[in-house]
Amino acid sequence: MLTYDVLISAGHEGRPASCAHFPQHHCNLGAAGERAWTPIVADAATRILREHGVSVVRLPADFAGKYRVGAAVFIHFDGSNPPCRSSASVGYAHSTDATAAAAWHRLYGRYWPFGFQLDNFTRGLREYYAYSQVQARDGSLVLELGEITCPAQRAWLAPRLQLEGALLANFLSERIGKGHVPNAQAFPVQASPKSRQNERR
Ligand SMILES: [Zn+2]
Repeated sequence: MLTYDVLISAGHEGRPASCAHFPQHHCNLGAAGERAWTPIVADAATRILREHGVSVVRLPADFAGKYRVGAAVFIHFDGSNPPCRSSASVGYAHSTDATAAAAWHRLYGRYWPFGFQLDNFTRGLREYYAYSQVQARDGSLVLELGEITCPAQRAWLAPRLQLEGALLANFLSERIGKGHVPNAQAFPVQASPKSRQNERR
């Protein structure tokens, strides 16, 4: 059992190469463009947390071993066909994670203008393949940060991947009570004038 403050896994990162080693994971490659974005958010959150003295194990989609951590997040963006039928969402396996899920709704909901699906609304969220590899004292969550296949949501997300990382770093630091990462409002929002038009539906 490996021990860290925080575990951050970038959804679909490393696939399809890693799939051969983890046939039980079913090798979902994610929505179009998702695999390029999840590592950007994961790296941003990891960098900020480490700058604040938080130990982070930064993992791709498929990894071996078991981890004991304060908090864990598995970063994703949803896909939908037809598009724009989904939004952000949260998945978890334990009723004790519901507190962490509620805290993420409160934080992300202050920024994210497109709402949330119900927690655990898909089997992928309810029964995420990596839950069994992680014991997280203060919450283990799959976070779908928005629907990448919906043009309006994608346009909002595209200039904000660094902000997403900053929000996650602040969230995780608060969950574990370590690092005192400032609120993401301290970080500049680099929104282009064009994407601002999509902020409100
Ligand atoms: Zn995904």
